[in-house]
Amino acid sequence: MEGLERWKGKIVLITGASSGIGEGIARAVAAAGMKVAVTARRSERLRALISELEKTGAEMMAVPGDMSKEADIRALFPAIHERWGTVDVLINNAGTGAMATFEAGRPEEWRETLEVNVLGLSICTREALKDMQGKEDAQIVNVSSIYAHRLQVPNFSYYQASKFAARALTDTLRAELHAAGARVKIAMVSPGMTATEFREKASQGKFSYESYFKEFQPLVPHDVAEAVLFILSRPRHVQVQDILFSPMGQGL
Ligand code: NDP
Repeated sequence: MEGLERWKGKIVLITGASSGIGEGIARAVAAAGMKVAVTARRSERLRALISELEKTGAEMMAVPGDMSKEADIRALFPAIHERWGTVDVLINNAGTGAMATFEAGRPEEWRETLEVNVLGLSICTREALKDMQGKEDAQIVNVSSIYAHRLQVPNFSYYQASKFAARALTDTLRAELHAAGARVKIAMVSPGMTATEFREKASQGKFSYESYFKEFQPLVPHDVAEAVLFILSRPRHVQVQDILFSPMGQGL
């Protein structure tokens, strides 16, 4: 994609890259010539992705960690500094959620959703901003959701609340970076239903994407990765704030 050349050799950190959208973004930015650090808890998945992409000439590193643990998040950065240097691009993609009515909701699942989708994202952003300070070109992308823009979606109250919170934080931080005169851009991508492991995990195996296929064809991780590439490819004076898109036929 035109406009991506300036990111060649720059360092990107992607959270939640062991599957789905994060893995798709890792493939796309590696193909664009970036140095790609990936994190998630399933280290064997990260290792498999790295060894596959390294064969294509990509520069990759895996730093496994749990996004609900501050110490794990903080440890990502020294590991990347030691190997390559400071982070130019952060993709906050790791996310979780449990599908249940509010009444049937379990506080431990609510807590995990908020810890990963809101606190983990915040801590990772705060740490990355230290790296980005003083850079002329730096970008944060938060993988949000169509659910950050729609109210009254049944069975996903805490997931939705977490995505609304992350949206509020994203917009507030953008205003603060502007006030500070920083050259760091911050964007969201807000996809609708995407074919990944997410829904099966969130519903504890009750629903998969296939159960929706009769109604419409979901997005695939590559569609979301292309939105991220579009954000990165904009010239320095253009700040994308959000890309909201959904599969044709998704009602909400
Ligand atoms: P996946 O379940 O395939 O991916 C989720 C990723 O997040 C995995 O890599 C998982 O890694 C990681 N993750 C979850 N919890 C933790 C944790 N505690 N610590 C570290 N990593 C964690 O789903 P998607 O690819 O669909 O989800 C990616 C993002 O996209 C999420 O933020 C989700 O909210 C968002 N999204 C998804 C949509 C969809 O329809 N699929 C639509 C809109 C947004 P591991 O388990 O190895 O730790």
